[in-house]
Amino acid sequence: MEANKKILISGASFAGLATAYRMYKMGYEVTIVEMAPELKKGGTPVDIKGTTIEIVKRMGLFEILKSLRIGY
Ligand SMILES: Cc1cc2nc3c(=O)[nH]c(=O)nc-3n(C[C@H](O)[C@H](O)[C@H](O)COP(=O)(O)OP(=O)(O)OC[C@H]3O[C@@H](n4cnc5c(N)ncnc54)[C@H](O)[C@@H]3O)c2cc1C
Repeated sequence: MEANKKILISGASFAGLATAYRMYKMGYEVTIVEMAPELKKGGTPVDIKGTTIEIVKRMGLFEILKSLRIGY
């Protein structure tokens, strides 16, 4: 039934956006809500290593992330 294909995700950070991506690829109609007024632009580098590399490859993001990497 079409109504079962809709999903609501609360929070547009790593977990929420990754879940939204996956659910969208699985055919769900995804709505994301976020209580923060704007994107957080601060922070420190995020490690992408080990099993995470396979995940970003499957998401089709590996090459762009590699091109944007900072040297640590
Ligand atoms: C001080 C600090 C430093 C860190 N440094 C690093 C680092 O250097 N490198 C690294 O890889 N990780 C770091 N982390 C860990 C990293 O921030 C977390 O692992 C990651 O943000 C978790 O992602 P998440 O999507 O699970 O949750 P969060 O990033 O916490 O996202 C949750 C989102 O949900 C939203 N939200 C919450 N409640 C609601 C609601 N009721 N309705 C709508 N939206 C809602 C929030 O506004 C937020 O955007 C750090 C964490 C902290 C606290």
